[in-house]
Amino acid sequence: MTVPCPDSVAAIAAGLARGEFSAGEIARRYLDRIEALDPRLNAFVTVTAEIALEEARRADDARRRKGSATGLLAGVPVAHKDIFCTRGVRTTCGSRMLAEHVAAYDATVVERLRADGMVMLGKTNLDEFAMGSSTESSHFGPTRNPWDPGRVAGGSSGGSAAAVAAGLAPVATATDTGGSIRQPAALCGLTGLKPTYGRVSRHGLVAFASSFDQAGLLARSAEDAALVFGAMAGFDERDSTSLEAPVDDYRRRLEAPIAGLRIGVVEEQFGSGVDPGVRDAVEAAIRELEGLGATVRPVELAHADIGIPTYYMLAPAECSSNLSRFDGVRYGYRAPGASSVEELYVRSRTEGFGVEVKRRILAGTYALSKGYYDAYYGKAQRLRRLIADDYRRAFEEVDVIAGPTTPTPAFPLGDRLDDPIAMYLADVFTVGVNLAGLCAVSVPAGLAGGLPVGLHLTANHLEEARLLNVAHRFQQATDWHLARPPLWKTAGEGP
Ligand code: GLN
Repeated sequence: MTVPCPDSVAAIAAGLARGEFSAGEIARRYLDRIEALDPRLNAFVTVTAEIALEEARRADDARRRKGSATGLLAGVPVAHKDIFCTRGVRTTCGSRMLAEHVAAYDATVVERLRADGMVMLGKTNLDEFAMGSSTESSHFGPTRNPWDPGRVAGGSSGGSAAAVAAGLAPVATATDTGGSIRQPAALCGLTGLKPTYGRVSRHGLVAFASSFDQAGLLARSAEDAALVFGAMAGFDERDSTSLEAPVDDYRRRLEAPIAGLRIGVVEEQFGSGVDPGVRDAVEAAIRELEGLGATVRPVELAHADIGIPTYYMLAPAECSSNLSRFDGVRYGYRAPGASSVEELYVRSRTEGFGVEVKRRILAGTYALSKGYYDAYYGKAQRLRRLIADDYRRAFEEVDVIAGPTTPTPAFPLGDRLDDPIAMYLADVFTVGVNLAGLCAVSVPAGLAGGLPVGLHLTANHLEEARLLNVAHRFQQATDWHLARPPLWKTAGEGP
């Protein structure tokens, strides 16, 4: 096919509006590319080719009927992390437990993007129930990093990240409980937005740790992120933690100058545990922002060093309770041949869950048990408050906090599988944001040893428009977000 096919949401939307190509042609092009490249990456658990072509046809029909009244995103493809429920299409959560599970309804995020005319290409791979930082704990095998297929794509939204980075989708939904949008964004060279807790509906998002889970997205630029985020965000009466605050016009605010922006930096985030290549790239990115008129000053997050232990007490506690619903009776995998209810529970859960999920359920159940609750869960709750207070004070002095998203670039597949602590440390700079319910974005900021580096920008509650604005101005001044993995060209000139 010779249809010129741009790879950004903005350019696809513009081309569709001008009639340069049809949604059907775009969908076909992406499906062909998935077929050619995904066997090397394993970014998708399920490709929904028929649905994509049908939705594309509907978008083309709508455009013929309504002309310029058609929504901006109509006909633009999207991939969904396989933790968002999709009616009629399996939602596996990367687990044997749900390998054949078909939800009876769509997640609000899926429903909203479809209502705006977006075309679903498929469901992307993830760590089992989003527990992990490498997408290696998936029942469906690991996802590989398009920049180096011997390395991880990050996690838990590694499938969404690899898909967008390799041009198998222009944008993908994702979720972030402790870093799962931003860490894979950093490792795959993407723009990943983790919204404020409650900004995007969790309805139909399979729960991992409910007081942390938040839906967001992975895109190639802040502009693309703004376009799609505007369609995802907003109050949903079906999620009791959903915020009623009005949704900003993220797109309109992209262009605002950032002169006078106050950036805070946390000294410890530039210490010896950080890869020198990562540190150099992030320092250069912050200088670039200074060049655009921002001022930089130190801020203190005094309890940052207890973020990981606090998170790994609370998130497993919540997961142990959330995952109790998978009992072999109500949902998912049921072990055959059990002769008692107890045996059915034990065998279904033993066979249905993988190692990391079991580790979390055990740790979480322990932390919640009688006699230990105060010492572990209760204490972690108090520490969570201290961490949130640190951010509150910092945001009295600065508008955003800037630092590295991750201490290292993408690590080799298998490297951290036997060392859960090393795996958990991949999120050392991201979990604080979830503990405090804030919003943050990871922005491509350079390469270290040929691998992408992410600049992490954190802002106060509901300041997504500001984050996208800073990210966009940075992307106008630099072109790291345009860098493409070597694999990009192996299936032709892009999608
Ligand atoms: N890596 C973290 C964990 O394993 C965060 C995962 C996530 O954000 N879903 O819990």
